[in-house]
Amino acid sequence: MSKVAIIGYGNLGRGVEQALKQNTDLELVGVFSRRDPKTVHTDGAPVYALDKLEEQKGNIDVCILCGGSATDLPVQTPAITKNFNTVDSFDTHARIPEHFAAVDQAAKENQTVSIISTGWDPGLFSLNRLYAQSILPVGETYTFWGKGVSQGHSDALRRIKGVADAIQYTIPKNEVIERLKAGEKMNLTTRDKHFRECFVVLEENADAKAVKQEIVTMPNYFDEYDTEVHFISAEELKRDHQAMPHGGTVLRTGTTHENTKQVIEYNLQLESNPEFTGSVLVAYARACARLAKEKQFGAFTVLDIAPKYLSSADDATLRKE
Ligand code: NDP
Repeated sequence: MSKVAIIGYGNLGRGVEQALKQNTDLELVGVFSRRDPKTVHTDGAPVYALDKLEEQKGNIDVCILCGGSATDLPVQTPAITKNFNTVDSFDTHARIPEHFAAVDQAAKENQTVSIISTGWDPGLFSLNRLYAQSILPVGETYTFWGKGVSQGHSDALRRIKGVADAIQYTIPKNEVIERLKAGEKMNLTTRDKHFRECFVVLEENADAKAVKQEIVTMPNYFDEYDTEVHFISAEELKRDHQAMPHGGTVLRTGTTHENTKQVIEYNLQLESNPEFTGSVLVAYARACARLAKEKQFGAFTVLDIAPKYLSSADDATLRKE
């Protein structure tokens, strides 16, 4: 039995709490939040102040980090990895190498293990892109997301000055997917594949024009897409935008021998993105605990982890099954 803690309790923190209820080999010690614990209402887990986390050293095998990628994880993952084994779902793709380097240094200096950027993209989609490209070296890989809520992008919107609340939908251009599946060869830019739609509630007296400009030019998040921004009321956001569905497709179209056509497709249809991402984090928390037991210190991504480490079954059982 490994003991785990949830660090940060937003959508993802709630998803991890639910996922842990389905994984009886992992025991939840508690939720650690930067907010006053009395104001954080969980589905049963005890809540502690984050600054008390270090007192629990020795009582926690893995910390599952559920902060936002925009500003929380770049600070929290390296800091917490100095004292604990950690798993995160850092999803700012362009900044993964620098995040990895910071966490790897903290892990190696302090003999801990960290698995960063788990989740589904990055995460399971990264893994499937690698499988598909290795198996079909001659071909093209395409990733399409949505239609769905991107928590990373919604989180980035909510941190803009003047924004009270917001949600962002990623919408794939379906006609493009169909043409690719039919065998058409296309040179696609980021802009050709998806567009982004933002629903934003402004704070009182906020400058809508400035907020819109900051959104559409935000590097790594919106600058390479056609982005629509709608300003709505808090009531409309609550009424029309509460569900958090997502999903997507990794498509590899390739050829073998004399132009024999091969298609690999990996598809996720998720009614709740945070509950699914939470489930992925929990499986990688199990792998993290096993790597720590084997003293394989340092940072890892999903590409480094053998599939059997994710399973609660032992090696002999997995071979038999
Ligand atoms: P949230 O904004 O809901 O939560 C982020 C943090 O904000 C929490 O850890 C919490 O920290 C704090 N917080 C939450 N609610 C409140 C509140 N009411 N008031 C003040 N602070 C609050 O983000 P999500 O949980 O939706 O997403 C977290 C990250 O997960 C995203 O940024 C994204 O990067 C990542 N993600 C990755 C995926 C992947 O496939 N790799 C897929 C989905 C998400 P605290 O408790 O300390 O205050």
